[in-house]
Amino acid sequence: MDTNATAKPVAKEDKTKKPGWREKMMQELRRLGGNASEIAQPPPPLEEPLYRQPAQRRAPTAVVPAEAGGIPAQRVLSAPTVAAPPPRRPTMNMSDFTVARVIGMGAFGRVSLARHNGTGRIVAIKAVSKAFIVKNDQISHILDERFLMKRVAGYPFIVTLLGTFQDRDCLYFVMEYMAGGELFTHVRDNGVLNPQATRFYVAQMVLALEHLHGKGIVHRDIKLENVLMSAEGYIKVSDLGFSKVLHDNQRTHTMCGTPDYMAPEIIKGKGHNLAVDWWAVGCVTFELLDGYPPFYAAEIPDIYRRILAHKSGSLKFKPYVEQVSKDFVNQLLHPDPFQRLGSGPLGAKAVKAHPWFQGYDWEALAERCYMPPYKPKLTSPEDTSRFDRFDRLPPVESAQNLRPQQQAMFNPFTEYY
Ligand code: ATP
Ligand code: MG
Repeated sequence: MDTNATAKPVAKEDKTKKPGWREKMMQELRRLGGNASEIAQPPPPLEEPLYRQPAQRRAPTAVVPAEAGGIPAQRVLSAPTVAAPPPRRPTMNMSDFTVARVIGMGAFGRVSLARHNGTGRIVAIKAVSKAFIVKNDQISHILDERFLMKRVAGYPFIVTLLGTFQDRDCLYFVMEYMAGGELFTHVRDNGVLNPQATRFYVAQMVLALEHLHGKGIVHRDIKLENVLMSAEGYIKVSDLGFSKVLHDNQRTHTMCGTPDYMAPEIIKGKGHNLAVDWWAVGCVTFELLDGYPPFYAAEIPDIYRRILAHKSGSLKFKPYVEQVSKDFVNQLLHPDPFQRLGSGPLGAKAVKAHPWFQGYDWEALAERCYMPPYKPKLTSPEDTSRFDRFDRLPPVESAQNLRPQQQAMFNPFTEYY
């Protein structure tokens, strides 16, 4: 296991236990000119769950064909053959873990809560079927996911990948466990959020994207299901399954993402870049304030039609949404990617400079000094009550029919000593 990757950021939560710390922090922030008004306040009450119905999860659209040219795709080409197995030992395998239960099902993987037998550490393990990956031509994407997650491991607003291994049938991602569950579940159960709570979560997504974009990585699947909450109530972006490195902000053409959050340029297929993530942040911000994503429709073709018909500034907001929030969302949901907030040379800095974030103390947020608006009620580190139950699980597809050459493509996935 990569010990650097497992090193958790020293959370300020520990300091909050010391008496007087919060007051000192507020004084210090005031001295520095920061806005301490949202720090250390009791959590603002969440508004009544007025608008959101028990919403249906939306699966991402399959990506066909898989893109060539990304860094991990090159690794696939240079993958060692079966005849020359890597001489090193894998850092872990399934017998190192005791699995408790399945906590998540995505289009690609099933995620389980597990305990590492050696250290007792609670982790989330995503298992992805090799047969499914091969059938859907997703090998380069799954290797991208692994290499890109590894590259950003340890960043406080992105879920940390602790290790990877495989067996005949599946690839396994071992991740830190986000006990608070999906932001999706939080909104579904508690209803729309007030502006402070919305800003708190969106700000952390902005930091996550700033970090990814700084490395040239476009996420391409920002949505409430892929934003996970920690036991303390902070959030992290997860699921780099559609992420890709764009060199010099090049454009890429594959249609991928989840329909409700797809930027118009993805649907048009004429090339897209990092700006698609800012569009998705606009959709998520709208959804947190409204209860529904902005282009919501029951049928996917209708969602696409609504996205393509969207004119700048034409969204209808609920009457209680403030002008500055509307303006923030409208600027992110600009149909022209060149005019979209965040798309210029300033990138995330322009998003952070929007008046919606006026007075927001980004350093305090990065240091986790803000009091989260909501703290999940958990009874133990392995509490899974924030996750839906998956009682009838389809069996994992066997990979026994894969050819050795196909199995060999997965070799770069495993982490070795
Ligand atoms: P998608 O359908 O979005 O492509 P996927 O198959 O790539 O999904 P993930 O999004 O990575 O899979 O995981 C599916 C679900 O499992 C998440 O939405 C979440 O509920 C749960 N999950 C994933 N990673 C973790 C984690 N580290 N801690 C807790 N729960 C997690
Ligand atoms: Mg997901």
